[in-house]
Amino acid sequence: MRVESKYRQAHINISRVRGKASVNPCAWCGGFADEWAYDHADEKQQGSAGFQWSENPDHYIPLCIVDHRAFDSAYRRFGQDGLEAAIAPLREVAGKRYDDDQKAFIAEQCVKQAILNERVLRAQIEERVAQLKQEHARLCAELEMRQRRTDSIKLKSHDSLSGFFPGFFVLGGLSDSFLGNDLFDFYSEWCEELCSRLDIAPFVPLRRPSFYRALEERGAMRKKTAKGIVIYGIKFS
Ligand SMILES: [Zn+2]
Repeated sequence: MRVESKYRQAHINISRVRGKASVNPCAWCGGFADEWAYDHADEKQQGSAGFQWSENPDHYIPLCIVDHRAFDSAYRRFGQDGLEAAIAPLREVAGKRYDDDQKAFIAEQCVKQAILNERVLRAQIEERVAQLKQEHARLCAELEMRQRRTDSIKLKSHDSLSGFFPGFFVLGGLSDSFLGNDLFDFYSEWCEELCSRLDIAPFVPLRRPSFYRALEERGAMRKKTAKGIVIYGIKFS
């Protein structure tokens, strides 16, 4: 960022944090302030001779144009060290520009205007929040739709065991076995649960024989026994 735009950005930041300068009484004369003036007292000040500013909003005071010019020219003539002594008499003269009644009136007007400004800001923020919420809801719906589409493609695809085996079940040793009927029941329940999560009518994509065949294709073994079909080499993950 160029130096000038950094300087401008710093002033925009002050207004964001502390509001407009114009809703404050001038720190010197008590009239309406016009600008935020850098107090030349920030140890971490930015810029170089003749063009300095602070990133810290606390290092600014509200001043009217007349007093701001006087302050800056005093700084240019006397520098950092002589500044306090140089501006003391200027500040005293400025302080007599308005009487106490006028100062009290101006102070009250400033607060009133500040409240109005903050209300406008609040309304703008609320509107922005409402827009963001709407956008968020739209994105959530889109994500859910995409997820549903992916899941349902997965479910209907050739690999109808994906997520079940391997997944819910994994390859095991020879001592790991299940009755084919039990395994198929697990599978059916798993499919129904998946369908209900996808919010689609429940269906089981594989019939029993193709289910056993699919298990075999993935490394399990099938054996006919007296108790019925037994699948070996498969276990809970
Ligand atoms: Zn002033």
